[in-house]
Amino acid sequence: MTSDVVPPNRPQLPSNFANELWQRYASQQKRLRPEPTQPSSSEISPEDYTTFTTHLKSSTRILALFGAGLSAASGIPTFRGAGGFWREYDSMTLATPSAFSKDPALVWQFYNYRRHAALNATPNRAHIALAELAKNKPNFLAISQNIDGLCQRAGHPAENIQPVHGSIFSNRCTKCPYVEHDNFKDPLVPAFALPDDVDPSDAKFPLKDIALGDLPRCPDCSALLRPNVVWFGEPLPQGAVDRVENWMATDNGGIDLMLVVGTSALVYPAAGFIHTARARGARVAVFNMEEPTEEGPTSRLKDGDWFFQGDAAVLLPELLKEVIGVVPGV
Ligand SMILES: [Zn+2]
Repeated sequence: MTSDVVPPNRPQLPSNFANELWQRYASQQKRLRPEPTQPSSSEISPEDYTTFTTHLKSSTRILALFGAGLSAASGIPTFRGAGGFWREYDSMTLATPSAFSKDPALVWQFYNYRRHAALNATPNRAHIALAELAKNKPNFLAISQNIDGLCQRAGHPAENIQPVHGSIFSNRCTKCPYVEHDNFKDPLVPAFALPDDVDPSDAKFPLKDIALGDLPRCPDCSALLRPNVVWFGEPLPQGAVDRVENWMATDNGGIDLMLVVGTSALVYPAAGFIHTARARGARVAVFNMEEPTEEGPTSRLKDGDWFFQGDAAVLLPELLKEVIGVVPGV
């Protein structure tokens, strides 16, 4: 606790940190995407710093919504906007039940690539800062739309986080109730193995022609396994929604603060959590690389809300430090 710290006029980041972070980000992006885009600067105005940290310190009930932007500094592709393509495919058309039934080998190779990227990434300073916040504020619940497991690897306590889109390291049977968790095998099956110099996200390397029998199979009934994630057009798991709603209903339902990190929150029902939190008294703080979109719920910020534009891995350690202390470099 450092309540006597005078808010700085400018964010006092370790001088070489931003450069270091950008170099790491750029090298990871270079491997994962042909043309990386440089993150915008992550300036925090003195007034926003003071009002936000004052409110944070007095907040007990905190809700958060995490999206792909949280993992961007770890080199995990967001698969949105200009980076939304994997090879020649729009990733949003691959993450669907119909794509899987039409071409399971293609969809599985996309997910095998994403598993590999997640396993080779490390949690960034935003994941760590949020995990530390959870340890300091026990009545903090994070709703995570990310499937990469990086919050968990940063030490975010399980009781303070609810994944709502599943996990890329969990698979389930397409026929029977079989589910497996925490399967970190890479490649998942021998048929997905690639030589080291082949980048499966680069369309110049032809995709492997994999027989259906060589795809991941259920050990109980031999039917196809599928990634245990929520695809476009599928509902959120009822258990996950129930847990969030139960949390919202406890302690008379009041919420002090809502953190929206790395997501434009366009997708319902996740977007509805922001409306509910606001209706229960929360002030909303949005952390995103991009300006709010016109149609998203974060586009209509109210008096008393905050919008912090930039890299979450830079902004969050700075804005949470009076509660969590200094987050070491990663
Ligand atoms: Zn089965």
